[in-house]
Amino acid sequence: DKKSVYHLVIVGYGGMGSYHGQLIEKVPSLQVTGVYDIVDYRMELAGQHGYQTYDTMEAVLSDETVDIVLIATPNDVHKELSIQALRAGKHVICEKPVTINSADLLDIVKVAEETGQVFTVHQNRRWDEDFLIIREMFEKRTVGEVFHVESRVQGANGIPGDWRQLKAYGGGMLLDWGVHLLDQLLLLTDSKIESVHAQLSTVLDTEVDDGFTTSIRFKDGLTAVVEVGTTNYVKLPRWYVKGTEGTAIIQDWDLSGEIVTRNTEVEKVEPKPIQAGRGLTKTMAPPSEESTIRQPIQTIEHPPEEFYINFLSVIEGSAKSAVPNEEVHRVLVLIETIFEAAEKDTVIHKEF
Ligand code: NAD
Repeated sequence: DKKSVYHLVIVGYGGMGSYHGQLIEKVPSLQVTGVYDIVDYRMELAGQHGYQTYDTMEAVLSDETVDIVLIATPNDVHKELSIQALRAGKHVICEKPVTINSADLLDIVKVAEETGQVFTVHQNRRWDEDFLIIREMFEKRTVGEVFHVESRVQGANGIPGDWRQLKAYGGGMLLDWGVHLLDQLLLLTDSKIESVHAQLSTVLDTEVDDGFTTSIRFKDGLTAVVEVGTTNYVKLPRWYVKGTEGTAIIQDWDLSGEIVTRNTEVEKVEPKPIQAGRGLTKTMAPPSEESTIRQPIQTIEHPPEEFYINFLSVIEGSAKSAVPNEEVHRVLVLIETIFEAAEKDTVIHKEF
């Protein structure tokens, strides 16, 4: 049934839980009414913010005024908490990575189907502007047919000093940032994956990966490199896209970058050799100014509340989920394949 206002409780009121609280303030039909966290200090903060605090998860689940439970705890308890909430008749929004393996997600989805409740994963980076611009480039063929894409995030702070460093909590950068970048990548093409190779890094001697690089080949010929680093004092571009008619770079979340395409009005001229190091080269001579067109990156704006609005429409039966669970599952299968490829140091040939 349609309600004028849905009541949501945040479970796990840390960095992300409190950020959800702020974002949801912009959605009139959704209200954060309460918080549950296992740490007293976090509960105090929630109380100061005017939220009702619950002493136990059972208290949240037995409160009939609660429509939606949002899970923003460390990754290891997402499954258990999601299933409990669904069984209690709540709709559930769960943070990414939804679970630490693909089988666990299927267990949750089964319970969602049995109970008829909506279960959605917060893959918020589906609405990142840099990604939407790249997706539009694929669709509009701005640089012709894209044959290679590179997607990276790089920091120099190591892994934050919390549960993200620990395996038992589902730590590591592949599950943390990797899940976002791989989710975005799979939305760029309808093609199946054909092969995967990968290396994990443990530069900082942590028990989990502090970064990774993966090479993925799709059946339609598209190749991709996805990289996450936490010891990069100088960054490579966030996106690098090569097409048959041009190349695009987006440097960072500030959307600096450019699109350079072949000027089809100008006849192709044979390049002249340039001095390069101790040699000469024609092959690597840059194209002339007249033979290329440079365009700035055009922004595409989306309000950050879109995720929640879609979730409410799914509850009301008036929209499909913007983050289908099958797509989230495929990303987890890809993550498992990356772990396997890195461990065996081999290319995994598998169609999915
Ligand atoms: P955090 O450590 O800042 O917060 C986690 C909170 O959960 C803490 O307050 C902790 O006390 C509480 N908690 C732990 N176990 C609990 C339990 N069993 N029941 C109730 N509360 C419990 O971590 P974070 O950075 O907020 O990350 C939380 C989740 O959000 C993770 O899954 C993370 O991957 C995800 N996240 C998503 C994004 C995004 O952009 N989508 C960004 C950051 C984090």
